[in-house]
Amino acid sequence: MKTMLNMLIGGRLDAGSRTMGVIDPSDGRESATVPDATSADVDAAVAAAKAAFPAWRDAGADARGKVLEAMADAVAAHVEELADLLIAETGRPRDLALFEIAHLAQGYLRYYASVRTEPELIAEDDTRRVELHRKPLGVVGAIIPWNAPVFIACNKLAPALAAGNSVVVKTAPTTPLTTLKLGEIFASIVPAGVLNILSGGNEAGARLVEHPDVAKISFTGSTETGRKIMAACAPTLKRVTLELGGNDAAIVLPDADVAAIAPQIFAFSFFNSGQVCAVIKRLYVHDSLYDAMCEQLAAIAASVKVASGRDPEAQFGPIQNRMQYEKVLGYLDKARAAGKIVIGGEAAGGDGYFIPLTIVRDVSDGDAIVDEEPFGPILPIIRYSDVEDALERANASPYALGGSVWGRDLEAAKKIAARLDSGSVWVNQHCALDPMIPFPANKQSGFGVEGGIEGLYPYLALQTVNVAKGG
Ligand code: NAD
Repeated sequence: MKTMLNMLIGGRLDAGSRTMGVIDPSDGRESATVPDATSADVDAAVAAAKAAFPAWRDAGADARGKVLEAMADAVAAHVEELADLLIAETGRPRDLALFEIAHLAQGYLRYYASVRTEPELIAEDDTRRVELHRKPLGVVGAIIPWNAPVFIACNKLAPALAAGNSVVVKTAPTTPLTTLKLGEIFASIVPAGVLNILSGGNEAGARLVEHPDVAKISFTGSTETGRKIMAACAPTLKRVTLELGGNDAAIVLPDADVAAIAPQIFAFSFFNSGQVCAVIKRLYVHDSLYDAMCEQLAAIAASVKVASGRDPEAQFGPIQNRMQYEKVLGYLDKARAAGKIVIGGEAAGGDGYFIPLTIVRDVSDGDAIVDEEPFGPILPIIRYSDVEDALERANASPYALGGSVWGRDLEAAKKIAARLDSGSVWVNQHCALDPMIPFPANKQSGFGVEGGIEGLYPYLALQTVNVAKGG
């Protein structure tokens, strides 16, 4: 029987007035039906959020923190049920689904339950006392991509709610299931209207962005859509956070131990079958280690299983949706044309959207497979002989989300890592996310940080309070 789930609008579970199907990427079949939000649904959710805002703002950070704690507890209590839905809509293996729900989504809710801001004293003398206050903005619209739907919904709604805003979440059209279920679960925990969850297409997102009663949009998705959203925010001068595409470089230094780091490099390149903004998408390897690194990574790739997340032996799942699958097939063609395929390279076809883990060598900057973001399981390995040249090439990208440097001398590796343009740099690891660590985006990967106390500030407006004394 097909799953049916509802939206959460003004504290009510709402079936909406029209529906859309959700495809299981493991077999290409429709597995669920969900509401397809109309402009009227978006308007109703924004109206409910606007009405709920004053009481939520005035409830105070401690009361809001308790609600966020209860939300985190509820996620923990429903982990298996939520994982079933996440597997149905993404096809990913169970351990990965559990990681997203139990570690990331729950972790960000719990972290923001505990974060507080206090007014800061700027100046005080006999004549005046000046304080800096931070105040919630009002209604926040959160627009979510399909690659990590529950994590990204929670790392937006958690800081937005903690700051005292009310929220309208718009899920990605192809991955609404787990987030709608969260809405059902949260309905009895969060005051009516404070959190609203809509499933719908791009038009519903566009309506949220243009809505005059929405104070801020927090968007994660492609750079192309980010540009449209920024332009659409201009007429109402909305604040906007944009977490966009990435083309993370990793640089393997000549002193690196190939056997020791190859498993980590593999894991951080193919995590979620490459469908992560900040996994390794360009691997620069020093000439002296190049052949060994290609061989070791290929040997690991040959030992893993790509299959539906319903298969208990699956380690890597399919591409999440048909449009992206066709895009990645195009990048396989480009990889074959540009370099030498070490492993993978040909999709078997069939009903599911499966792409074999693919490694391509003897490619370089200027090849589309190196310069662009395939957002799938294809890793280009690029040879370099001068570290300065590798750094320059890594920084030549318009993207600057994450980057990493790998070597035995940690101080030397750290100095090189700090010269990357990206918002996050790592040494001997990659994509090490943690709720307490800010995750900034630079250049065309976006702006407006998420994570850490810094991730709370974009949901707050500044106000200086300047009191003259002795009047
Ligand atoms: P997308 O841009 O196609 O869609 C994202 C969301 O925007 C969806 O909910 C969609 O319905 C909505 N949308 C589309 N057009 C809109 C419009 N005109 N107005 C308002 N909303 C609109 O992105 P995607 O394909 O779902 O996600 C993949 C991309 O996301 C990749 O480029 C990836 O790198 C990026 N990403 C970035 C981060 C980060 O933190 N920087 C994290 C995850 C994914």
